[in-house]
Amino acid sequence: MQKLRHHDLESLVQRLDLAIENHRLWVRQLMRILVCQSDHAELDKSDDAHTCCDFGRWYYGQHPEGLLDNPTFKNIEFLHHEMHRIASGMLYKQDTGQGISEAEFETFYSELDVFVREVERLKAQMQKLLYLRDPLTGAYNRATLKEELYLLKDMLSKQVETACILMLDLDNFKGVNDRYGHAAGDEVLKAVAEYIQDNLRTLDKFFRYGGEEFLVTLVNSNLPSALATAERMREGLCNLVVEFGNSQIKISASIGVALIDAESDIKESLEQADKALYTAKRNGRNRVELWSQ
Ligand code: GH3
Ligand code: MG
Ligand code: MG
Repeated sequence: MQKLRHHDLESLVQRLDLAIENHRLWVRQLMRILVCQSDHAELDKSDDAHTCCDFGRWYYGQHPEGLLDNPTFKNIEFLHHEMHRIASGMLYKQDTGQGISEAEFETFYSELDVFVREVERLKAQMQKLLYLRDPLTGAYNRATLKEELYLLKDMLSKQVETACILMLDLDNFKGVNDRYGHAAGDEVLKAVAEYIQDNLRTLDKFFRYGGEEFLVTLVNSNLPSALATAERMREGLCNLVVEFGNSQIKISASIGVALIDAESDIKESLEQADKALYTAKRNGRNRVELWSQ
């Protein structure tokens, strides 16, 4: 699910909440029918009842790939189906005047508990991912960066590869706020983040390092390839036009590049990228610079 965009995650959590509430109503309806012996024409007993209930309609609806291959999401299908199968059995028995055994009722409730726990687990996984992201831009937040860099370094010492970091800062961004307003500045930050996200490889990640400053980790990359990536990113951002009201806002970015290898001190690598960024600013902005001693 890590691949999912921030806004996809947000809408998934909302839709999952609704599906959970609908499921709760379904259980209530089932219990009313079983306990009060009321008419249950409206409750589906067919073999594919699990695909037709409100929860099922959510489950079998359109979802992004990042959710479809999640193990918890996959597991829910069986649990939900099983729960419906037992419920249909109980409804059938009631229909045909047969008694429902305690064992059957207990099995239903055990299945229901496991199903609900699994759905809650899925929701918790989504919420945890949301908590790691910056709400405005959807980039990972700075609090997660340190852990990510240490994980990256750990990977390097095992696989003997190098990685690079890009420190990217928007140029004269205060001027964008001053000229078009803070809301316009926010739209620019969102557009920049979307551009970066769209142009990263699967394993690469990007973080909101500060207000208008982003950090990108490039896994399995050396300085020349990181330089080429940074240059492409700089050029892409320079060509980006952000529409806000009647305004068309253009921006540029300066980028500092540094290497991380198995021997690197993470703090030092960050300082190196920062120094390279500072050099890019000093040399006129809208530039990429490599760290050099
Ligand atoms: P430089 O080229 O030297 O980086 O100049 P700059 O104007 O980009 O840098 P400066 O540090 O002077 O200003 C950064 C501005 O970014 C100031 C701040 O208000 C703005 N900013 C930071 N976070 C946000 C945000 O979330 N939304 C908006 N709209 N502006 C933000
Ligand atoms: Mg700036
Ligand atoms: Mg800055």
